[in-house]
Amino acid sequence: VLITQQSQEEMIRVFEENQKLHQDGKGDMAKLIVVSLSVQPILSLAARYNLLADEAAQKLSGYFRKLGADIVLDMTVADDFAILESQQEFIERFRAAEGNGNTSKSLPMLASSCPGWVCYAEKTHGNLILPYISTTKSPQQIMGSLVKYHLAAQLGKKPDAVYHLTLMPCYDKKLEASREDFFNQELQTRDVDCVITAVELEQLLESEGHSLSAVNAVPLDFPWSKIQSSTQSITSHKGSGSGGYADHIFLHAATELFTESEPKLEYKSLRNPDFREVTLERDGKVLLRFAIANGFRNIQNLVQKMKRGKCIYHYVEIMACPSGCLNGGAQVRPQDGTSPRELTMKLESLYQSLPKQVPEKNSVVSELYKAWLGGSQSDKCSSLLHTQYLAVEKMATALNIKW
Ligand code: SF4
Repeated sequence: VLITQQSQEEMIRVFEENQKLHQDGKGDMAKLIVVSLSVQPILSLAARYNLLADEAAQKLSGYFRKLGADIVLDMTVADDFAILESQQEFIERFRAAEGNGNTSKSLPMLASSCPGWVCYAEKTHGNLILPYISTTKSPQQIMGSLVKYHLAAQLGKKPDAVYHLTLMPCYDKKLEASREDFFNQELQTRDVDCVITAVELEQLLESEGHSLSAVNAVPLDFPWSKIQSSTQSITSHKGSGSGGYADHIFLHAATELFTESEPKLEYKSLRNPDFREVTLERDGKVLLRFAIANGFRNIQNLVQKMKRGKCIYHYVEIMACPSGCLNGGAQVRPQDGTSPRELTMKLESLYQSLPKQVPEKNSVVSELYKAWLGGSQSDKCSSLLHTQYLAVEKMATALNIKW
């Protein structure tokens, strides 16, 4: 995997070059700069600067606009796509496993939104684990498809005339954006051109002697529909702010596969709070068994179980960081004697205070399925919302690299 152009310096260089083109009357050569804000770093910066979550989002929007961004978005639409696609993929895998005795390695389905985990699986466990990882792209990369292959067209731009920057909770998201699969060879453009983390943004503000609190707030853009444009607010989803979607997939599968109208979500902690399990049972029989495994100790245990053919789960939400993305490696570090755990709890409570988004009820997403993708489960959905994984040896051969 080649990691290039993923730094604050690169971001500032692009903003400055763009500004110069505009000043020199060569605006037609300038890029359209689109910034996508993920919810976890917004909350991290909100806590750092004692702001409300929405206030922090709007001040970040103001900050990026001051740097020269044309459009600033939140990632709710991409999160909703990722949840809906993962739900659908689970149903298909479950039915395939029922039909063929799981010879096609359909289950367990392992989550794919954490590149820390995906890279570890590719490097360490290769083809043994990869068939089980969900093919649904992470929200960051779905946002990449949406910005480069829908928003750009809507605005009469080619994908390579758009510079897409994301604000994320960890450095591994830079690695993800740099994957070959997310690079358009023909147009020589990436779906996500640059990833900036919460801690890098804090450093940038510090180096300029600024506080985010002092930045003017500017509402986020909402180019997907005119209806929400002036009231756009960041949102949360069912479950924790970890960045995973086990709750959604479990509830959807319980209803879709077993016609449970009100399935209960009661997790039991096993071994430690970062390994939890939930089941759907009927007449003493377990119909669905899901787990959430966060942090490398739990991931290693799970992988060992899979290697021995002893994994009992239908789905596992795997996130490399304990407590998931709220505690990401590039979130702002705790201040003033606060412990990491206290900070994560504070971010979790900020997350829970946001208005809840229900992906199935997001009319903008339904409209995008029709207008952009030609319906759900279309070929365009497969190519723009799904990806593939390669064991490192295979990846090295494909890239002609000696490993
Ligand atoms: Fe990044 Fe950690 Fe979230 Fe994985 S769990 S995507 S490594 S912040």
